[in-house]
Amino acid sequence: QPQYDIHSGHIVGAEALLRWRHPSYGMVPPDRFIPIAEVSGQIMDIDLWVLDQACQCLGKLTAKGITDFRLAVNASGTELSNPAYPDAVRSTLLRYDIPPHRFGIEITETAIVELDEVAQMTVRALKEIGVEIELDDFGTGYTSLSHLTNLQLDVLKIDRSYIMQLESNPKLVDSILQLADAFSLRVIAEGVETIEQLKLLQQKRCHMAQGFLLSKPITEEELIALLIDDSLAD
Ligand code: C2E
Ligand code: CA
Ligand code: CA
Repeated sequence: QPQYDIHSGHIVGAEALLRWRHPSYGMVPPDRFIPIAEVSGQIMDIDLWVLDQACQCLGKLTAKGITDFRLAVNASGTELSNPAYPDAVRSTLLRYDIPPHRFGIEITETAIVELDEVAQMTVRALKEIGVEIELDDFGTGYTSLSHLTNLQLDVLKIDRSYIMQLESNPKLVDSILQLADAFSLRVIAEGVETIEQLKLLQQKRCHMAQGFLLSKPITEEELIALLIDDSLAD
């Protein structure tokens, strides 16, 4: 799903969202199979495959001259408790010659709160590689200020539930933006569905947005076509 710079209107990145086309069940949404894969122990293999596909996609974009673009993948708590995960990330980036700063790893606020010592070391090792760490679904968990200080996060993603009530209750987003500013985090608003929400976010100096108003999740081919169009615009 493309992510837009709210002020320039250009696409600056995308989030990799997994889809499963099952031969008899049709399209199975990730909310259905990811929780099962977490319990069955298959999530690590699945997410390593997503990581590989995402880096391959970034490699294709680079070959087409699109270099000012970043891609993020979702990581589950299982990856964070696996000390081998950072090495897998490092070697995949190397395989496709991807500069680490163009790659983001999204960790949900709930997973951050549950971080034990091993997981904190994993996050630090990922930071050492140079990939960006993004705090996903912000506002749905209970991040403590110490997590924001200790983990040196790069991006904060405001959960869709806050964007939905942006017009009726703007103070919540105002305070999230202030918090992000205090910790020098870039902010992505998730689930932007209306032009009013986008305009309010522009006024509030939120940096980036993703949501159905701008683009639904699309295929890799559609993304490449969209980026070529976008690079031709103004
Ligand atoms: P998420 O990381 O919070 O991803 C955002 C979800 O919101 C996506 O659902 C996306 O399609 C949806 N969305 C985006 N814009 C809008 C909007 O404007 N309105 C509404 N109503 N929804 C919007 P999706 O693709 O069904 O993914 C659901 C969740 O599954 C993700 O939530 C993420 O937690 C998980 N997931 C997806 N792909 C992966 C993956 O490769 N690995 C892991 N571990 N989890 C994944
Ligand atoms: Ca996400
Ligand atoms: Ca999210």
